[in-house]
Amino acid sequence: MATDPIHRLIGELSRLPGVGEKTATRLAFYILRQPKHYAKNLAQALHDVVEQVRFCSSCQNLTAVDPCQLCADPRRNEMIICVTESVQALRAIEHTSEFRGRYHVLHGALSPLDGIGPEELRIKELLLRLRQTPAEEIVLALNPTVEGDATALYLQKLIAPLGIKMTRLAYGVAVGSDLEYTDQATLTRAYLGRQLL
Ligand SMILES: [Zn+2]
Repeated sequence: MATDPIHRLIGELSRLPGVGEKTATRLAFYILRQPKHYAKNLAQALHDVVEQVRFCSSCQNLTAVDPCQLCADPRRNEMIICVTESVQALRAIEHTSEFRGRYHVLHGALSPLDGIGPEELRIKELLLRLRQTPAEEIVLALNPTVEGDATALYLQKLIAPLGIKMTRLAYGVAVGSDLEYTDQATLTRAYLGRQLL
C-alpha cells in the first residue's frame, strides 16, 4: 500500500488535523492536477519549514532566524512581555496591532491530568529572561480555560516576588454578539471584570 505514491500522499495528508480520508483524496488529486512546480514548491516549503524553523532563544516563538524578528525589533518595548500559550495566540495578538512589547510563548498550559506540569512549559526560560532583562509588566494572554487559569495562577505566584506588575486580558462578551445568547460563564466573567466608565 505504501509503495503507491498516490496512496502514500493520501495517507500522509489524512494525518493532518481535521482532514479525513475523503478530504485527503480530494487534496491529493487537486495537487496532481496542478502544474508540476506547484507540488515542488509545496514539497520545498514543507522541507524548509522542518529544516529551518526553530525556537527563538529569547521568546520561544517559532522562527527561521534567532533571535526572531519580534525580539530583534528595537522599536518594540522590551519592558513589557506578553505571555501566550501558543505561537498561534501570539500571531492573533500581533494581528490586533495594539501590542508593541515583546512576547513569551509557553507552548502549552498546565494540565496535570494530561501530564503537563511546569517542566513541560517554557517557564524556566521566562524566569531566566526576567533575571537577565528586568520587565515592568507581564501581560498574561492565556486561554480562558481551566488550564489557562491554572497557568496564570502558577505564574502569578512565581513572578510576584520579583515585584513585576502583572495583568491579564479582560474576559468579555464577543463583539457584535447578543447578551441574551452569551453563555453564563462568559457573562459572569464579563460582569466581574466590569470597568469604570
Ligand atoms: Zn523571539
